[in-house]
Amino acid sequence: MLENLVIIGSGPAAHTAAIYAGRAKLSPLIFEGQFAAGVAAGGQLTTTTEVENYPGFPDGIAGPELMDRMRAQSIRCGARIETKTVERVDLRSHPFQVFVGSETIQAQSIIIATGATAKRMNIKGEDRLWQKGISACAVCDGALPFFRNQVLVVIGGGDSAAEESSYLTKFGKKIYLLVRRDTLRASKVMQERLKSNPKIEILWNTEAIEVLGEQKITGLRIKDNKSQGERILEAGGLFYAIGHLPNTSFLEGQIECDETGYIKTKSGTTLTNIPGVFACGDVQDHTYRQAVTAAGSGCMAALDAERYLSHHS
Ligand code: FAD
Ligand code: NDP
Repeated sequence: MLENLVIIGSGPAAHTAAIYAGRAKLSPLIFEGQFAAGVAAGGQLTTTTEVENYPGFPDGIAGPELMDRMRAQSIRCGARIETKTVERVDLRSHPFQVFVGSETIQAQSIIIATGATAKRMNIKGEDRLWQKGISACAVCDGALPFFRNQVLVVIGGGDSAAEESSYLTKFGKKIYLLVRRDTLRASKVMQERLKSNPKIEILWNTEAIEVLGEQKITGLRIKDNKSQGERILEAGGLFYAIGHLPNTSFLEGQIECDETGYIKTKSGTTLTNIPGVFACGDVQDHTYRQAVTAAGSGCMAALDAERYLSHHS
């Protein structure tokens, strides 16, 4: 079975790529995953409630509904979708091979749009209160009415934590940043911005050990890891900024990635180091990580693949 174009993933990047490739008559085959990397088909937006910043929906739209619509549009434009997870690929020879269960699919070109997964703390109370005051994306959720004028807590010590804490000062009345060491990993400029903001207080050597609340978050049990002293910190919101893991393990190191595991693409394109293999969305973007930027790069990947196929098939 030789496919023109296999798309791996099912978030905004994969579906936008499928819409463009379908309209270009490439008859793309999508493997949308079956709870791949712990995320339902449809991607990260299936784990959120309201999306207010995706253009075209002035009243906002529920994340799962937005993804259902993208999926329907992919099919209408000519994509075929299989609810299966790609376990492995062989990119060493052309056509490429894609391994899915007992099937092996040959592909002239591949678009990788497998996204990234926000790391969780896995502390007590987290599962109960996930999306009831706990979020892994301040830029996505911080502006929701739920968090307005609340005491908010951010956990992390990198650039994301610094950026998200600063961003949240627009909405929260006070931001606590919990840092597990006595130093930040964030760049100097971000550190300075953080430290000069009067709404932000850094709690050094501090770890969260439990999230409190029943229907919504009311606070955290925190621990000073130097003195081992525990106390309750009252809060109306908690944001994790402890890093993301790009979903690339199925590639088994066959594509060039940066030191944090994100696929490297040639600047301004979706080209990887392997001709005929393209990457789009969060799996190659640790900076913007938004639905609209993922969709934009999905469009680029389809156009790049179309150009490649016109010369190679
Ligand atoms: P993803 O959405 O990450 O989807 C990738 C998909 O690929 C997943 O379904 C995964 O299971 C699948 N997959 C992985 N490996 C395989 C495999 N081997 N085989 C097959 N399938 C595989 N952005 C906004 O713009 N606005 C928001 O309001 C917003 N809210 C958010 C709220 C939350 C809680 C989170 C976590 C993120 C939010 N984001 C928001 C960010 C946005 O969801 C992401 O930037 C966007 O979904 C990235 O899209 P993507 O297409 O790269 O991949
Ligand atoms: P990083 O991996 O850089 O930082 C993660 C932070 O979370 C670290 O401080 C780490 O602590 C902390 N952490 C990890 N696990 C835990 C845990 N279980 N409990 C408490 N703290 C924890 O991730 P980022 O998302 O911040 O950044 C990723 C990349 O993206 C970086 O290269 C960054 O520079 C870049 N970026 C750039 C931005 C910009 O320039 N505007 C904005 C956002 C990100 P410790 O330090 O102790 O390991």
